Amino acid sequence: MNRAVYPGSFDPFTNGHLDITERGARLFDELIVAVLVNSEKNAMFSVDERKMMAREAAVHLPNVKVMSFDGLLVNFMRREKSRVILRGLRALSDFEYEFQLAQMNRQLAPETETFFMVTDAKYSYLSSRSVKEVFSFGGAIQEFVPPGVFRRMRERVPPRDLS
Ligand code: ADP
Repeated sequence: MNRAVYPGSFDPFTNGHLDITERGARLFDELIVAVLVNSEKNAMFSVDERKMMAREAAVHLPNVKVMSFDGLLVNFMRREKSRVILRGLRALSDFEYEFQLAQMNRQLAPETETFFMVTDAKYSYLSSRSVKEVFSFGGAIQEFVPPGVFRRMRERVPPRDLS
């Protein structure tokens, strides 16, 4: 059983994340989307909400499981008996951080391998942060996020220019 873990903040889950999840689900027997429980104070959604939204978006993928983890990723990987970390790469700017992270994880757990999947060109500019930013200024975000995420964002805070 080849099980991979796709870790991230997913605050919120975007169409770019969904694309990596769908492609990863085709490559591995099982893919765990792992939502990081971090202490980021300015997170828009709770970990439970983030998990729910990712689950909803990936409901058509039977071999995808959504979980959360706290602390070191490599400990979670060991608990879940997975050796593959899946990450997405957008621009060159992602590379340095991802490179460092992959090296660190390899130091901590030499049995793990990080797989990088290059973003589909149509999502190359998309990040959770940019979606939140556009939304906060009243911009249309339907085309950037799955329908469930869009619904929840609208319920959350009315865009600034409408309030
Ligand atoms: P973000 O960078 O969107 O705030 P995350 O920390 O949740 O988000 O990202 C988790 C992983 O998904 C990272 O490896 C990141 O590079 C990748 N990723 C995020 N957005 C995209 C995208 N549009 N295309 C490909 N990979 C992406």
